[in-house]
Amino acid sequence: MNTLNADQILNIDRQHIWHPYSSITNPLPQYVVKSAEGVRLTLEDGSELIDGMASWWSVIHGYNHPRLNQALQQQSAQMSHVMFGGLTHEPAAKLAKLLVDITPEKLQKVFFSDSGSVAIEVAIKMAIQYWHAAGQPQKQRMLSLRNGYHGDTFAAMSVCDPVTGMHELFNAVLPQQFFADAPQCGFHEDWNEQDISSLKTQLEQHHHEIAAVVLEPIVQGAGGMRFYSPDYLRRVRELCDQYEVLLICDEIATGFGRTGKLFACEHAGISPDILCLGKALTGGTMTLAATLTTEQVSATICNANPGVFMHGPTFMGNPLACAVATASLELLLESPWQQRIAQLEQGLQQGLAAARELPHVAEVRVLGGIGVVEMKAPVRMQEITAAFVDHGIWVRPFGKLVYLMPPYVMSAEDLHELTAKLVAVIADPALFAES
Ligand SMILES: *Cc1c(COP(=O)(O)O)cnc(C)c1O
Repeated sequence: MNTLNADQILNIDRQHIWHPYSSITNPLPQYVVKSAEGVRLTLEDGSELIDGMASWWSVIHGYNHPRLNQALQQQSAQMSHVMFGGLTHEPAAKLAKLLVDITPEKLQKVFFSDSGSVAIEVAIKMAIQYWHAAGQPQKQRMLSLRNGYHGDTFAAMSVCDPVTGMHELFNAVLPQQFFADAPQCGFHEDWNEQDISSLKTQLEQHHHEIAAVVLEPIVQGAGGMRFYSPDYLRRVRELCDQYEVLLICDEIATGFGRTGKLFACEHAGISPDILCLGKALTGGTMTLAATLTTEQVSATICNANPGVFMHGPTFMGNPLACAVATASLELLLESPWQQRIAQLEQGLQQGLAAARELPHVAEVRVLGGIGVVEMKAPVRMQEITAAFVDHGIWVRPFGKLVYLMPPYVMSAEDLHELTAKLVAVIADPALFAES
């Protein structure tokens, strides 16, 4: 087989490949990864990086896990793919049953799709079809939170933060949604009823047009890495019931234990009408997402014209992805994951505490397996990435946020090394824009 050396890979990459949110004419340097094992990435030159990102929330068991590899191999020997229209199979059935068992009780129906953004599109379509079927077709708009992030496709973009949501450019063609102020009450702070007033006002004024509230429970991720009070979520659930609006919880980032509960909704003891899952669903092995809903929502949709839910991706319920997702969930549920998340939380608290002393740090906050250092000025991306790599760690900041969400299996020693090196790197004020 014809192999490429690092220079050849980088050459082709620079000439032809678009990376996430990147320039193709003025690209930042890319690093060539050769392999990954446990919590370490190995680069082409043989250097090893401790991974602080779990590849954007997904690789919770670490890389190259034998159980996940085995599930993929066994399934590929049976069938890698088969269309889901008119056909079904064991991997999809097993995974659906498991998801229904571990998510809040009312969520009984599962729609599989390929990525988080599509799971959000599906959720929004379900909410609109539901109100259509329920005889209130004027309820078609969404109410979401400022600082939210729900993905990059069009309907998903329309419910992201309208200003910081990276999508302003498309405003003219995006569906116009309603927005409430982001919760200000922190996760551990005393509840202040004032915090819900913006959302309440929006519901009071516009509920007859609103199909659903869409939010990320407890943790607002890519829109600011903010942690908020479970009381906020409880009040949202009450208000949705009062104003007859569905609640869509986007647990694409928070699902599967990251915040210390299996699902972040559990911090508030609430159950949404529609739940979106993705990211860690397959332990970072394959792309897969799911949208779950209740008996009531699904039956209402299907008992009215046109009698079906109007969505069906080509790769829906892909057997390889379903098989590896089931293996990943079994691995998670068998593991002492609560203890691991508690240890990550403690290690992140201790390891990042020193960053509070730095004059150019605005705030340090930790919840479960998520550690965030908010700087006073945006990072200089190229320089800070090179400094992290020189120190042997993989951290990918955005804007003013330098954050960690390590694989759950990271040892206390590796976490200590990761946080100590992160603090050493960000101690250099030259790595941040002039504030
Ligand atoms: C990542 C993310 C999405 C989008 O998922 P993709 O798989 O990137 O399409 C949606 N919502 C939240 C909360 C996310 O973190």
